[in-house]
Amino acid sequence: MSKLEIKDLHVSIETEQGDVEILKGVSLTINSGETHAIMGPNGSGKSTLAQAIAGHPSYNVTSGEILLDGEDVLEMEVDERAQAGLFLAMQYPVEVPGVSMTNFLRTAKTALDGEAPSIRTWTKDVREAMNNLEMDANFATRNVNEGFSGGEKKRAEILQLELFKPKMAILDETDSGLDIDALRIVSDGVNRAQENNGMGTLLITHYTRILRYIKPDHVHVFVDGKIVDSGGAELAERLEDEGYVNYEKTEAPA
Ligand code: ADP
Ligand code: MG
Ligand code: MG
Repeated sequence: MSKLEIKDLHVSIETEQGDVEILKGVSLTINSGETHAIMGPNGSGKSTLAQAIAGHPSYNVTSGEILLDGEDVLEMEVDERAQAGLFLAMQYPVEVPGVSMTNFLRTAKTALDGEAPSIRTWTKDVREAMNNLEMDANFATRNVNEGFSGGEKKRAEILQLELFKPKMAILDETDSGLDIDALRIVSDGVNRAQENNGMGTLLITHYTRILRYIKPDHVHVFVDGKIVDSGGAELAERLEDEGYVNYEKTEAPA
């Protein structure tokens, strides 16, 4: 059993106008096997939460805590976070020119585990995971994210999830740009990682569509840098009908 705890997290970014607080006290606990969906309007700070967990240097944690199984994640370097079992799928995955998917995956797996995987099981695991995701075999020889379509990038993320077996995955807008078939394949991959490896999931999304395929145990409404409401899967259905308008700040009359 693993547990990711976020406690009263405040995060600022530096802008030309000075420091701006984006996250204004976020608290959230995710246990192994649980899926928490974070839903909120554009600009509410959802990706900032993902970046802070990942340790992106532009996002300054000014107070609060992030603990993975009691260990202080904020004290860890980015690669140490991954080694500890955190996986972050970026909303905008980066290209790695000149590095093939196979080499990238094997190098990353070696860094994560502290030893190279045995060639035989590794080749089999990669082939199996690619089959699961209905990926063409030539995908393995292409450079990381170079010229990948939106759907291919997402599959490449889920491929990593299947092979790296993280304790906790933070998936930011994994549904964006996917047609319905790709969405189902990607969602099946997330569900498999949960069932097979007991992975906990923080699923960040603007739309409810993906929640038909990945059933959330908890849904949190995120507005203006904070969780303003939490509930079960039924909350997502309500958001689909009503949008976020009931939660948005109403300006006080002058
Ligand atoms: P969401 O993912 O919910 O759409 P973001 O976390 O991307 O929201 O952004 C929250 C707010 O922080 C927005 O107003 C955005 O413009 C601002 N912001 C996020 N990252 C940066 C950055 N690196 N530099 C400047 N502003 C940023
Ligand atoms: Mg606070
Ligand atoms: Mg975002």
